[in-house]
Amino acid sequence: MSTRIAVIDRDLCTHSECGYLCMRVCPVNRMGQECIIKEKGTQAPIFPIISEQLCIGCGLCVKKCPMFAISIINLAKELEQPIYQYGINAFRLYGLPLPKEGAVSLVGKNGIGKTTAIRLLSRQIKPNFGDVSKQLNESGMLAKMPIELRRYFERIGKELKMSMKPQYINRVRDAFDGTAKELLQKTVEKGQLKDIAKKFAIEEILDRDIKHLSGGELQKVAVAAAYGKEADIYYFDEVTNYLDIEERLRVGVLLRELAEKKSVLMAEHDLTILDYISSYVHLIYGTENVYGVVSQIKNVRAGINEYLAGFLKEENVRFREYEIGFKGHSEGEVKAPVALEYGKFRKKFKDFQFGSDGGKIRKGEILGLVGKNALGKSLFVKMLAGAEKADEGESLELKVSYKPQYIEAGETTVNGIFEGEAINSLVFEECKRKLKLMPFMDKKLTEISGGELQRVAITLALSREADIYLFDEPTAFLDIEQRFEFASLLRKVISESEKSAFVVDHDIVFIDAIANRLVVFDGKSSVKGHASAPYGKREGMNAFLNMAGITMRRDKDTKRPRINKPGSALDREQKGNNEYYYTD
Ligand code: ADP
Ligand code: SF4
Repeated sequence: MSTRIAVIDRDLCTHSECGYLCMRVCPVNRMGQECIIKEKGTQAPIFPIISEQLCIGCGLCVKKCPMFAISIINLAKELEQPIYQYGINAFRLYGLPLPKEGAVSLVGKNGIGKTTAIRLLSRQIKPNFGDVSKQLNESGMLAKMPIELRRYFERIGKELKMSMKPQYINRVRDAFDGTAKELLQKTVEKGQLKDIAKKFAIEEILDRDIKHLSGGELQKVAVAAAYGKEADIYYFDEVTNYLDIEERLRVGVLLRELAEKKSVLMAEHDLTILDYISSYVHLIYGTENVYGVVSQIKNVRAGINEYLAGFLKEENVRFREYEIGFKGHSEGEVKAPVALEYGKFRKKFKDFQFGSDGGKIRKGEILGLVGKNALGKSLFVKMLAGAEKADEGESLELKVSYKPQYIEAGETTVNGIFEGEAINSLVFEECKRKLKLMPFMDKKLTEISGGELQRVAITLALSREADIYLFDEPTAFLDIEQRFEFASLLRKVISESEKSAFVVDHDIVFIDAIANRLVVFDGKSSVKGHASAPYGKREGMNAFLNMAGITMRRDKDTKRPRINKPGSALDREQKGNNEYYYTD
């Protein structure tokens, strides 16, 4: 075994087009050995192959590769055999979590192997122990496994039935032709459908075509389809994207109840929701798109705190140089002069009516817009800036830079969408570096993942020259670290430029970290919406959580917000005191 991992991203590598520059610069090759060679016995395209045994880890090929396609990782100590490797010089995963009674969550960055672990456990791919040259038969595979894993693999799919919610729901949209009801009928037990639809509040959309559902609606249907299947083990690969806070909590309560009777294993990036559902976590650390190592099982509170600290106590492993910090208190009010003042707005469409109270926004201030989906959050900001005409109320003539909720992926390249835009190049360069856009700047928007597309869209919106900035759900598909990276970028850019920003998001930890004050939306989704004047943080969170019926406390070590179990002593006490949100 080597202490070196070499990965070549075949989506990026142009092989012959660069004249195999890596082979020419490698000092081991230049000494006459075959460290980087051309793949043998394949039809074109012929990719280079790096020998992890011969490589001395100098990193020259990494630096010289014009496509940023190569990663070389020098490990501090040798890792045991991987459980799975996708191919030669490809991503590999070390260790596997195991489902157990209750809910277990996988916590880690994007591209670290959470989906790979779920695909292995649900038997979509077969463990190969790092040997990509041959397929093991069933008994050969079982013989190589430690006893607990072997027991699991012997039973899964036989006496142990499983149910699975995939990560990318858009693929369900593309693959399924029919209504939401027809999709549910494929998995949900006869006679249970009505009850399940009620639990997930999807009764009204049952007869709609899957192709016409919004992201949030489709997410609920996909989770309901997996939840409603009779099984012993349930796999959920990300459940909160596109859901508003009430929907997240509803799903959270249902999955937590499910975990009282069945085994649930899930991957999720919304810290408050995963904390609420799970009893245990496995952290997965390593280098994204190169390798991932599954940690021991940990109790949920300790595990999340270790993840934020970047240090695994039992394993004595530091996997991140810095801590993901929560301030001792939430982001407070700014004392800067008022940047703009606005009056009341009214607007009536055929099916939707909206009203808002007036308020003031300070320079360098970020206002969090909180509330359910479809209450007019984007409409409010558009009227404020004059991009949408109000029936009553005067707009300000402002230039808005807007990051929409859904991002269209066209045929243009990532680089292409920045061309012709009035961009602040300093902000652009910083976003590119911090959000790690370089590796896919030349790719088409259609070729990049949901998380990559989101990072491109928030970079574009934040680097444009404008008076006010509006971000609609910037955290969807971002992992925990990217959420914090973006939170600190946004805070820095807005306070240094003395501009103002409005941010709609349903991740409470994120909103808590960025917002100075909150505008609270209430009403009935898609029918009637109302926006409050900006509230102080404590008052705003209290009003908002009161509407959602949730109480929250702060973790005593990290100060991160945690949801109280409905009906628990703390929940009842806080509701009694009308203190839905503890800031101390
Ligand atoms: P996560 O779920 O933590 O975001 P994944 O398990 O989806 O991570 O991916 C881990 C790595 O495995 C990524 O670099 C991904 O590109 C790679 N990968 C996934 N599927 C394949 C495949 N079929 N061939 C090669 N690499 C793959
Ligand atoms: Fe060669 Fe390894 Fe150096 Fe790359 S990192 S140039 S493969 S020795």
